[in-house]
Amino acid sequence: MKVPFLAFSPQHEPIREEVMAAMGRIYDSQWYVLGDAVRSFEAAYAGFSDVQHCVGVANGLDALHLSLLALGIGPGDEVIVPSNTYIATWLAVSYVGATPVSVEPNPATANLDPARLEAAITERTRAIMPVHLYGQACEMEAIMAIARQHRLFVIEDNAQSQGATAGGKSTGSFGDVNGTSFYPGKNLGALGDAGAITTNDAMLAQKLRTLRNYGSQQKYYNEVIGYNSRLDELQAAVLQVKLQYLPDWTRQRQQVAAWYDAQLQSVGDLHLPVTAAGSTHVYHLYVVRTAQRDALQRHLTEAGIGTLIHYPVPPHLQQAYAHLGIKQGAFPIAEELANTSLSLPMWPGMKEEDVTAVVEAIRRFY
Ligand SMILES: *Cc1c(COP(=O)(O)O)cnc(C)c1O
Repeated sequence: MKVPFLAFSPQHEPIREEVMAAMGRIYDSQWYVLGDAVRSFEAAYAGFSDVQHCVGVANGLDALHLSLLALGIGPGDEVIVPSNTYIATWLAVSYVGATPVSVEPNPATANLDPARLEAAITERTRAIMPVHLYGQACEMEAIMAIARQHRLFVIEDNAQSQGATAGGKSTGSFGDVNGTSFYPGKNLGALGDAGAITTNDAMLAQKLRTLRNYGSQQKYYNEVIGYNSRLDELQAAVLQVKLQYLPDWTRQRQQVAAWYDAQLQSVGDLHLPVTAAGSTHVYHLYVVRTAQRDALQRHLTEAGIGTLIHYPVPPHLQQAYAHLGIKQGAFPIAEELANTSLSLPMWPGMKEEDVTAVVEAIRRFY
């Protein structure tokens, strides 16, 4: 039995008519950029995230970049980022001319380790960017306490964890400004690129609305050198429909993870995902670890099971960051995760028999 890495149809088929109708309304409205659909989705997503303001932007990377800009972070500043994350987190820091300073994760959860933060703080440090990786909320209480003590900004990268909580509070509501992505494969996905920023600070929200729209509040009057990073009306309309179903889809992802957890107990040398006390996990990805990762992946590919590696090369070892001169071995936990992690098939609506087929293929390997 073949199992793809990701299938959209269980999410998309049942809401096809509703999404098409929403898209049709934009088509007929003759208003395609920054209109009612964006305003309405921003209000809904702010409510979902338990914040006062949401600013829709073109993608998740822009959300992080504009967040750093709005906080006035720039050349000479240092920003603490995880050593194991998607490269977007680091790129956003580089875009504003600041320096990404890498901190290792807790090897059990793969999330930023609060116990390692203090050692990385210097007089140039301005901000911490926790990434709620794979769908699990970081240990935000500890991270926020350190940020407050050292007067640092916090910018959450919530691209993978819409709907997760830490200490009962929503991810994307802790930081000064927080970025998320609605890339199609994310837990809340558009039909193309889209992203958003969440904040409780009205002044920052206003600044961000200006930055995303050519530095302009009044058409053809430009206050700052802004960007074109607007959320499309069409994507906002789709996202508004999909947002209603996100809590159900999250429960379905958690059910799939529970099936994997039960069936993969003590199989070979597999390490299963671990969730920190007080955090919830919305399983954007179900990531296992094994010393035989490459061989297991080849075996699963031959068996028709789709897998991916998140991520094969940590940012500090990417060619793009060669200029930082960070040597192999500098961040051993991130490097170990890059060498041993394997993401198994995971999507809302995935059936127990799909999970069983994946597990049987893994058992055959061992
Ligand atoms: C997807 C992702 C981003 C970037 O989002 P885009 O919309 O693709 O620009 C940033 N950070 C993390 C952790 C991501 O997974």
